[in-house]
Amino acid sequence: MRIARRPTTSVAAPSQWITGDAWIEPVAELGGASRSQIDSVRFAPGGRTVWHRHPLGQVLVVTEGTGRVQRCGGPVETIHAGDTVHIAPGEWHWHGAAPTVPVTHLAIEPIPEDGAVAEAGAPVTDNEYHRDDHVAGAEAIPPVTRSVLLDQLLSAPQDTHRVEVRRIVIAPGHAGGLHVHNGPVFGSIETGSAVYQIEGEAASVLGPGDVFYEPKAVRIARFDAQDEGVTFLGYFLLSADETPEIEFPDL
Ligand code: MN
Repeated sequence: MRIARRPTTSVAAPSQWITGDAWIEPVAELGGASRSQIDSVRFAPGGRTVWHRHPLGQVLVVTEGTGRVQRCGGPVETIHAGDTVHIAPGEWHWHGAAPTVPVTHLAIEPIPEDGAVAEAGAPVTDNEYHRDDHVAGAEAIPPVTRSVLLDQLLSAPQDTHRVEVRRIVIAPGHAGGLHVHNGPVFGSIETGSAVYQIEGEAASVLGPGDVFYEPKAVRIARFDAQDEGVTFLGYFLLSADETPEIEFPDL
């Protein structure tokens, strides 16, 4: 048995395969007779693959959000967390997010013995993507959704008189480095991604829509922008006469 911990890198999907934005986290590669590649793929709202086909087909398992999938000649279908999509060998198709909601799916792709790879075709145009917006499947997306992203107990009761919201941009590849805040900080990623780690805990990769919490006076080991940089909103909880302070202690 071997346990691979949560990957610390997600990479932008290759642009020739994608319209909009998508990120790939490799999950597992199965060897032996039934070789397969398993990835977790996250599409920003409106993001989708180009038309393509896989030599031995593909299985998609939607793990979060709402997406769209279409096989050549079929309708554009809405898919939700928990749905599984079976794509036949050689079947032309595309998959991606709903227009206003991101989607994450596992992509399980058997790898043929001869090493043949997936074949990319034309991009999915806006007309194709929106073709069936009037039908029930698309309208099944409720007009308002509310999701609890974080329900966080603070490390100590906090007398909050003020909340300062900042938009923070970190250049591609720049490591935020070890730091400590004088109050609790909450944040949500707008674009790009970062590796986030509280000292002594596991690292995780934050992408668009992900939220995080940096406890007051706790050493944050990493907030490191990945290749595409990161833009996030930070919410600084402050008492009456505090201003946000960040300290970069010596290692
Ligand atoms: Mn596919």
